[in-house]
Amino acid sequence: MNFHEYQAKQLFADYGIAVPAGRVARSPEEAVDAAKAIPGDLWVVKAQIHAGGRGKAGGVKLAKTLDEVREYAKAMLGTKMETYQSAGVALPIDSVLISEGTDIDKELYLSVLVDRGTQSITFIASSEGGVDIEQVAAETPEKIQTLNVNYVQGLQPYQTREMGFALGLDAKQTGQLGKIMLGLFKLFNEKDLALVELNPLAVLTNGNLAVLDGKVNSDDNASFRHADLVAMRDIRQEDETEVAASQHDLNYVTMDGNIGCMVNGAGLAMATMDVIKLNGGEPANFLDVGGGATKERVTEAFKLILSSDKVKAIFVNIFGGIVRNDVIAEGIIAAVKDVGVKVPVIVRLEGTKVEEGKKLLKESGLAIIAADDINDGARKAVEAVKQAA
Ligand code: GDP
Ligand code: MN
Repeated sequence: MNFHEYQAKQLFADYGIAVPAGRVARSPEEAVDAAKAIPGDLWVVKAQIHAGGRGKAGGVKLAKTLDEVREYAKAMLGTKMETYQSAGVALPIDSVLISEGTDIDKELYLSVLVDRGTQSITFIASSEGGVDIEQVAAETPEKIQTLNVNYVQGLQPYQTREMGFALGLDAKQTGQLGKIMLGLFKLFNEKDLALVELNPLAVLTNGNLAVLDGKVNSDDNASFRHADLVAMRDIRQEDETEVAASQHDLNYVTMDGNIGCMVNGAGLAMATMDVIKLNGGEPANFLDVGGGATKERVTEAFKLILSSDKVKAIFVNIFGGIVRNDVIAEGIIAAVKDVGVKVPVIVRLEGTKVEEGKKLLKESGLAIIAADDINDGARKAVEAVKQAA
């Protein structure tokens, strides 16, 4: 689950990390009120969306007067913003963060994540912040500092000092960095986070460190014990189809292609996507209907695939072990009866109750293209898309 910057900064503050004074606003009037409550005469108006890259897209504006605060907030609120990090989707700007403006001397990068290679919570830092960190890592890897935290010892103060020196900070800034890192480490553990990113963590002209941006991502598998985090969820920032899928306990991820896939089992789903690509096609989604799929879940899954107008063919690939092919067939028939289907459907069924499943589909009168195996099905799906084009 992702969080807005204003929520991330609230979490940081809860863990004793100093953040610039700021308030969230949902209308231009609220934005002006927020600015009035923040000392100083420079403010930053920041679009709150679940994507970075806002600066380059016009979602971060420095305002020198209250009129400018109102103007920028008005221009952003109610619009949608696409950035180079929003995966081709324009996200709604429902709120803006009004933040205390600061004078930046230098921008650093600091993140915390779970490094699966070393099985440890890991800090990644760089003196080159404010930019695409992947680019820094690729072009100047020597400017990236990595700290794997020992699971038993936890983060030690001396390690934060080493990090400060490695980033070229002075003694006072290194002390401030230590407080930030120890706070982030506690937050990361207690809230079961998957990623925290401060980009930039800025050195200001007054010599202090300041947390100017915050991205937080939590581990969904731990959501059951973090009601406070779940309450912060903003589903308007999420993919509509994925939200609908999660309500039906379906493992669904939207992809870029045009061949919809309905598969049971995550491994088979990935294999199906691979084989589609091997045949020159592009999957429109990852979908695992699960081992214990009921007729209702299959119906919902099929409707989800049909809801996208990008889908030009559907490949149903079922290997029935626990799941029964007659149940799958009933689900498909029910979904098609409900919403209709205008694209070719290629079906490969194998395993438990396969003859019953095939018979049901045949008798339903649906125009279904039967496939013998995974490769045959993928090939026929790619062919069907070509013919439709
Ligand atoms: P992002 O583009 O979505 O990652 O949004 P950021 O919050 O990182 O803002 C983008 C850039 O705006 C930062 O790298 C800074 O250069 C600038 N910026 C953000 N906050 C401030 C601020 O308080 N003062 C100044 N002068 N610049 C800021
Ligand atoms: Mn940023």
